[in-house]
Amino acid sequence: MDDPISSRVPSALHMENRPPPVHPVKILDTAFITHNVKRFKVEKPKGYKFSPGQAARITLNRPEWLDRSGPFSFTSLTSSRTLELIIKIYDDRKGLTHELGLAHKGDELLIGEPFGAIQYQGPGYFFAGGSGITPFIAILRELHKENKLAGNTLVCSNQTAADVILGEELSGMLGKKFLNIFTRQHVIGFSERRIDRNILVTLVQNFDQHFYICGPHSFVQNLSTLLTELGATADSIVIEH
Ligand SMILES: Cc1cc2nc3c(=O)[nH]c(=O)nc-3n(C[C@H](O)[C@H](O)[C@H](O)COP(=O)(O)OP(=O)(O)OC[C@H]3O[C@@H](n4cnc5c(N)ncnc54)[C@H](O)[C@@H]3O)c2cc1C
Repeated sequence: MDDPISSRVPSALHMENRPPPVHPVKILDTAFITHNVKRFKVEKPKGYKFSPGQAARITLNRPEWLDRSGPFSFTSLTSSRTLELIIKIYDDRKGLTHELGLAHKGDELLIGEPFGAIQYQGPGYFFAGGSGITPFIAILRELHKENKLAGNTLVCSNQTAADVILGEELSGMLGKKFLNIFTRQHVIGFSERRIDRNILVTLVQNFDQHFYICGPHSFVQNLSTLLTELGATADSIVIEH
């Protein structure tokens, strides 16, 4: 059974309105960074620009995959000469990410123009469910580079400690402002639970700041509702539409 925390499935209708993948780029390097999450370093198309937090439709540059693209967020710094993608591989369904799991250096992808509503608007809380961390990696790396991370807290929800993406790097950047919550496995020193009202009240205290939420639909919905009930305004909640 799939955990609602871990799957972030785009609706076909939603994707139809996004720019199709047209730029061919070669994969330069790949590595698994957790048991089911793979990092891709790929070429950056000439003149390609994105804002931290944005995604693009991506697929394999093979005839049978041309009409089966999926959205993925860029995790690299905007100044980097290459693009980085961090992709959770779902091997249980023989879909796009399964095929990306088999792709390696030298294979070609197609990338669309960037899109997305998640952009940094000021200090606050970042709530990530599973692979929903990816747009925040781009934003937090950029803030770190500019020495502007102060005032931000990242809360990640995963099934187990083995599912945490880039834990070491994020911990290095954010220190005590990087919090982990596990929905399944008990890990000493961490709580085994979902982000609920009590956690939010204890953690946040001041609801007059920004709240960035990304993850599965139910995760985004639940947290948006809870934060609104606790006093956050609609304007202060930043999510993908
Ligand atoms: C804007 C945006 C940005 C994204 N960025 C990233 C990113 O940077 N990294 C990343 O890893 N992911 C990201 N995603 C999610 C990613 O697009 C999807 O995981 C991917 O497209 C799934 O493709 P697939 O064909 O391999 O899997 P699918 O076959 O679509 O399955 C994916 C998962 O959903 C479950 N599932 C699918 N359909 C059903 C169904 N009908 N009933 C029950 N379960 C179902 C499957 O069991 C599996 O766990 C993003 C999504 C959006 C909307």
